[in-house]
Amino acid sequence: MDSSRRGFFRQMAHRAGTTLVQEADRRVARRAAHWIRPPYALDELEFLLACTRCNACAEACPHQTIFPLPARLGAQFTGTPALDLVNKSCHLCEGWPCVSACEPGALQLPDVAEDEVLPAPKLAYAEIDTDRCLPWQGPECGACAASCPQPGALNWENWRPVIDAAQCIGCGQCREACILEPRAIRVSSRYRESSDDSAGASSSGDMALRP
Ligand code: SF4
Ligand code: SF4
Repeated sequence: MDSSRRGFFRQMAHRAGTTLVQEADRRVARRAAHWIRPPYALDELEFLLACTRCNACAEACPHQTIFPLPARLGAQFTGTPALDLVNKSCHLCEGWPCVSACEPGALQLPDVAEDEVLPAPKLAYAEIDTDRCLPWQGPECGACAASCPQPGALNWENWRPVIDAAQCIGCGQCREACILEPRAIRVSSRYRESSDDSAGASSSGDMALRP
C-alpha cells in the first residue's frame, strides 16, 4: 500500500473520532508476537494491509529463510511471510533481495539521505539461555563467537557470550551457529511485549515461528 492510501486510512479513522485503528493495531500486535516478519517490514497492521501474499519475498530469499504463515492462523495472516529463525537465520543479504522483490511495499527500506548509512532492521530479540549455554555452565565453547554480523551485539565477558539487546538486530546467526540441540540462544518476536502471555512467543516455545 502506498503512503497516500495509508494516510487516507488514518485520516478517515481520525475523522470518525474513533480508536478503531489503535484497537486494530493492538490486536494485530498481540498476534504478531507469534512470528517474525522479514527485514524492513512495515508495522504489523500496515504490513497486513499492504502484503498481497504474492510470495515474491520468499522466492527471492537465497537462504529459504522466509515461509508463508500456515492456514491455521486465520485468513488475516495466512500466506503472509515470516522468517524461520528457528531452523535458519537471516543473512542480511547485500541489496536486500526480499525487500526489492516486494512490489506493494510491505517490506520497505527507510528513506535515508545519500550520505547516510541505512539503519539495520530490527528483526527480533535474541537471548542467551544461560541455563543451557556451555560456557555459562562450565565447559568451554566458542561456536557462536564469530557468527555475529552486527558490531557490538554479541560480546564475550569472562569467556561467556552476552548479547547486548541495544545492538542486536535478531538475525539469528548466532543461534544457527550454536552446537546444542535445542539451541542455547532463543529468538522472539519484536512484538513480544504485546503478547497475551508475559513471555511472548519464542523459538523455544511457539510453533507459529516454524514453517
Ligand atoms: S535479507 Fe537475505 S536471508 Fe534475510 S530474509 Fe532477505 S533475502 Fe532472506
Ligand atoms: S547477537 Fe545474534 S541475533 Fe544478535 S545480531 Fe548478533 S548474531 Fe544476530
